[in-house]
Amino acid sequence: MDSTIMHYNLNIKSIFWRIEKLYKDKEIISRTHEGIVRYTYSDFALRVRKLASLLKANSIAGETVASIAWNTHRHLELYFAVPLLGGVLHTVNIRFHESEMDYVVKAIGDRAVFMDKDITYRNSTLPTFVFDERYDDDINSQEPTRNFPDVDERQGAIACFTSGTTGKPKGVVYSHRSIFIHSLSLLAADVLGISSSDTVMPIVPMFHISAWDLPFASLMTGAKLVLPGPRPKAEDIVKLIKEFKVTVGAGAPTVWIDVVNYVERENLDLPLKVVVTGGAEPPLGLIKKLKELGVKTYHAWGMTETEAIATVNKSDNIERISEQGYPIPAFEVTLMDPEGNELPWDGKSTSELVTRGAFVAKRYLNDKSDTQIRWFRTGDVARINPDGSVKVVDRLKDLIKSGGEWISSVDLENAIMTYEKVLEAVVVGVKDEKWGERPIALVVKKPGRDVSEHEIIEYLKSLNKFPKWWLPDKIIFVDSIPKTSTGKLDKKLVRDQLRSIIESSK
Ligand code: AMP
Repeated sequence: MDSTIMHYNLNIKSIFWRIEKLYKDKEIISRTHEGIVRYTYSDFALRVRKLASLLKANSIAGETVASIAWNTHRHLELYFAVPLLGGVLHTVNIRFHESEMDYVVKAIGDRAVFMDKDITYRNSTLPTFVFDERYDDDINSQEPTRNFPDVDERQGAIACFTSGTTGKPKGVVYSHRSIFIHSLSLLAADVLGISSSDTVMPIVPMFHISAWDLPFASLMTGAKLVLPGPRPKAEDIVKLIKEFKVTVGAGAPTVWIDVVNYVERENLDLPLKVVVTGGAEPPLGLIKKLKELGVKTYHAWGMTETEAIATVNKSDNIERISEQGYPIPAFEVTLMDPEGNELPWDGKSTSELVTRGAFVAKRYLNDKSDTQIRWFRTGDVARINPDGSVKVVDRLKDLIKSGGEWISSVDLENAIMTYEKVLEAVVVGVKDEKWGERPIALVVKKPGRDVSEHEIIEYLKSLNKFPKWWLPDKIIFVDSIPKTSTGKLDKKLVRDQLRSIIESSK
């Protein structure tokens, strides 16, 4: 490279420099199995340096290692110590079955496993570090590592596998550079606008897409960070928000549905400023309720392959907040048909959303093909408004094709969930001899409320939003709806269950 051209590695070391030099007294609060741990950025940085020495002492510095852990300070220390030494932290989904854990650990070639003490996964061939008092003592007894290498920004830092609801999980590696740029992009005023005066609580798990990079972004800007620990329930979340004056909370819509219901039931307030929600479209009823509670919703869209949040909608217009919003800096979108032709951004043309940018995966782990992906095909079907705001209609595979026309399962679900007696709903297509597929809804009633199939259909008609042939053929009431390991409605499982119910009733 021409030595007169400036070059500076956008790496984790650069974020770590800010943590140590600029925000010494800022706090990190962590809910653990043993209770609340509260320490400063300075204490955190020292622990990272000591943990790095522990990695070296165990000959795993610069290697790929697995973490199977909740959102705690111990997990956060690994987020830094491992990549600072040039290694990759592979965050394993806690909700994976043990055989899936084994599959991903082998697929990436992990050299050690770090895990919370309630995790049952055992791997007899790899050194295993369990987060307990002895682990803390082992770290504390180390001399802090003085110098970290200036790792090339294109090297991997964190790895994560997709949730694998359609086949084997696929691995994606995030580079130092992609984490740095994505974190900066999140901090922009028109994106999340997080600053050093915020207190951020990522409820979204650190084992999936690095909790949307919020821990990196928060520490980069000196925000107070609250990590909600093992299996946080609505009650724990509300307690942490109140006790530590959280300003920004981030999690999937299902988390916020639980929180809002809990707050309503217990007649409490919710002193948050902002809820960042993504991973699935938030029901309108949820956003309205949050607004009533004085909380602003930022609606974000993203996926494992785009390093989580990639578009955001902060509209004050409640009618437009179901849009997934505008691409954030260093990320581009467009619509593409199956032949690769781009479609206009007219708010009407509907096709697959394709993306590219600084934090979009080039290829999956162990994919040996050299095809450079120019546009990454998301598998989401969308429209784009002339102003650039994206509206995701459905997953390609979840759209229902009835009589040759498409029905959006997401639109129906969200409409059903606006009914006051409904807690949750999922709509899937089932085979139909005449129409090809027809929609069927599974509905969970709000606790203590009774509602009939007829009532819901009449409600949908009264919205004047759907043609008659969109209305579900059947509504089945259930106690709960199966969720994927990342908290989304598991439509594949719902379809399988419905298929076996239908077969057995023949
Ligand atoms: P994952 O890689 O497991 O995070 O799943 C990514 C998928 O979740 C996307 O391709 C979308 O289908 C869906 N998704 C994420 N965020 C949203 C959102 N805000 N609205 C609708 N669907 C979403």
